[in-house]
Amino acid sequence: MKRKILLIYTGGTIGMVQNAETGALEVFNFKDIYTLLPMLRLIEAHIDFYALLPLIDSADTNPNFWIRLAKLIEEKYDSYDGFVILHGTDTMSFTASALSFLLENLAKPIILTGSQLPLGVLRSDGRDNIINSIEIAASYGKNEPCVPEVCLYFDNSLFRGNRTYKDNVRTFNAFSSSNYPKLAEVGVNIKYNYDAIMPCPKDKKLKLKVHTQLDNRVAILKLYPGIRLENVEAILSVPDLKAVVMETFGSGNAPGDPAFIALLKKAIERGVVIVSVTQCKGGGAVEIGKYASSFALGEIGVVSGFDITTEAAITKLMFLLGTNISKQELIASMQQSLRGEMTNPQGK
Ligand code: ASP
Repeated sequence: MKRKILLIYTGGTIGMVQNAETGALEVFNFKDIYTLLPMLRLIEAHIDFYALLPLIDSADTNPNFWIRLAKLIEEKYDSYDGFVILHGTDTMSFTASALSFLLENLAKPIILTGSQLPLGVLRSDGRDNIINSIEIAASYGKNEPCVPEVCLYFDNSLFRGNRTYKDNVRTFNAFSSSNYPKLAEVGVNIKYNYDAIMPCPKDKKLKLKVHTQLDNRVAILKLYPGIRLENVEAILSVPDLKAVVMETFGSGNAPGDPAFIALLKKAIERGVVIVSVTQCKGGGAVEIGKYASSFALGEIGVVSGFDITTEAAITKLMFLLGTNISKQELIASMQQSLRGEMTNPQGK
């Protein structure tokens, strides 16, 4: 059966081609995609193209852009079997994370991809990234998609989007997902890791629910040896601040300076939720109380983000603050997986 795929172009390096006369990089007209990538015709899929205008460098991504993207998917959801989103690499992991929260009960593949080299230059990684993303988005078995979740495809690897981070600006393998296995690897065959892939919602009557509120009254506080109390205070005293992702050391450790702890405590008492995520990319989760240097954080009510990435933590906070849940519910939700963004501490 020929699947229908919507290819959504948002901007970024991937959409650039070199003008043959001037040598300058210009935005590629995706209406000509079959001319540039004739092998797309070999995929058992009908591909439509949509440009989300204005095209942006992904440095300009923001919550409104994520909501527009989520609404576009809602509008087109019933007409397509899968979606491939072409996006700049710089903030792709943020967008993938935000979309995973905004799209509840997802039962179709949404694959974000981009490239390190523009599509229209020699050796571009964009060609393989687009072709393979489309092939995966169109892959169904027993009438269910192979990967019914928000994914990120790059350099022969398919990742759960909200587990990724960009960690290289030069090599083609620009993304990693240290705390979660790849969902698929592309070689001679596409090898799906079905144990790691989120299944479709069990209740087939559950319809896609698209959330359209994000609250950006959040901040990221990255700790470093020698951080000045004035800096910490400046972030924590931002008017209207609702929540903070605090990037701690190792398994969730922070300076023991009582004045620093007192600043955090004061903010928490004012109602600010502080979530601890580790600066270490892999190997485990925040364990508040494991060392004396994190014990005090637990005492004052800092919340553990376990093995969540900063990208997923900040977008999850925006999402939860945009819902009508209580602060207690928000704290509970930050400590459990909603869309596979963290390993559930309860092992669920
Ligand atoms: N600055 C570009 C962007 O993120 C880089 C890229 O696409 O890789 O939009």
